[in-house]
Amino acid sequence: MRTLIQGGTVYTGCGFERRDLFIEDGRIAAPRADFAPDEVIDAAGLIVSPGFIDLHVHLRQPGQEQKETIRSGTMAAAAGGFTTVCAMPNLAPPPDSMENLALERRLIEEDAVCRVLPFATITAGRAGGVPVPLRALAPHCVGFSDDGSGVRDMAVMERAFIEAAACGALISAHCEDMSLIEPGGCVHEDYARRHSLPAISSASEYRQIERDIELVRRTGCRYHVCHVSARESVELVRAAKAEGLPVSCEITPHHALLCQDDMADDGRFKMNPPLRSREDMLALREALRDGTADAIATDHAPHLAEEKSRGLRGSAMGVVGLETAFAVLNTGLVETGELSLERLLELLTFGPAGVIRVPCGWEAGAPADIVLLDRQGKGVVDSSRFFSKGRSTPFEGMNTAGRIICTLVGGKPAFKTGEAKR
Ligand SMILES: [Zn+2]
Repeated sequence: MRTLIQGGTVYTGCGFERRDLFIEDGRIAAPRADFAPDEVIDAAGLIVSPGFIDLHVHLRQPGQEQKETIRSGTMAAAAGGFTTVCAMPNLAPPPDSMENLALERRLIEEDAVCRVLPFATITAGRAGGVPVPLRALAPHCVGFSDDGSGVRDMAVMERAFIEAAACGALISAHCEDMSLIEPGGCVHEDYARRHSLPAISSASEYRQIERDIELVRRTGCRYHVCHVSARESVELVRAAKAEGLPVSCEITPHHALLCQDDMADDGRFKMNPPLRSREDMLALREALRDGTADAIATDHAPHLAEEKSRGLRGSAMGVVGLETAFAVLNTGLVETGELSLERLLELLTFGPAGVIRVPCGWEAGAPADIVLLDRQGKGVVDSSRFFSKGRSTPFEGMNTAGRIICTLVGGKPAFKTGEAKR
């Protein structure tokens, strides 16, 4: 099977170039005069980018299929331009053993419409007590994370870092020191004080990052910080990078675009970490610009409508993000001149690819994972049209510029605009 993508503006990783792309048997092929395509995709007027890579999604299967499945979650991913997503391990059973990881991988093989790379847990049952057999699991997962909770015991984390360093594995940490959180914590400190709600302090995040960076210094472990939300955390990661430590981090679209001033007492503004102050949001934007952030990751976290209907205090933590990420970021940061389109695309492609060390781009032989974008295409965030089973988004009703036209995974269309629900 040979496909030609013709007339598009191609994002190369160091700019844009008018060029045609040749795909043969699911991989990028070298340009050649006698290439006889079975199919031609007209990309005139469109941006052609390597498929997006999301380092942080919750697909909920196995265990919570009522919230999302590998099928519905990866359809949402493809609709958002993502060709690879990294699945977080808060699942039932959690991928903390060879057997459980194999079960998850079987489901992925059967049902996924894009590439899914599973994270294994750092500790057995994500309970924070006993590290998993890291070296045995490492070849079968993208890295290790106890996402959803921080690993409180420093000795446990140090043992995991030593094991991970020994086999070159990545630790992706949800940093949250529960001892620095008020019981039932649901919002940032200032908002909590103003509205008499329990707080999730910035310190609960950055104190743990500080501790972990000290462990990186001791062990040399590759360390990635999930969903950075506080300006102090940005400073710590920036300094660690300047020191030459193998530290990376991701920022979510909602933390980059919204702050506590945008909130209402509505479950669609409840996530962990919470939306913080305006100064924090601006620090995150600076991190996206200056390279302190390596990737944008959605932390796509679907829940049932009922679980998100109980306001800030009672709703479940987490919002969906796969289907809106590009549109809201392009609208909120690129159209406003705060971030270049090139940098946004880098944060969705080469940046995350570097963190997890997967191929990305146009070298002959690379997987033909590609997204076609209309950067001006108008839309409105309408959760009733999502492929995801989750409907709770803080961007509901937002008018957007920037649409996903087509997503190819291994050269095959995984999403085309106008099909199915949109
Ligand atoms: Zn998390």
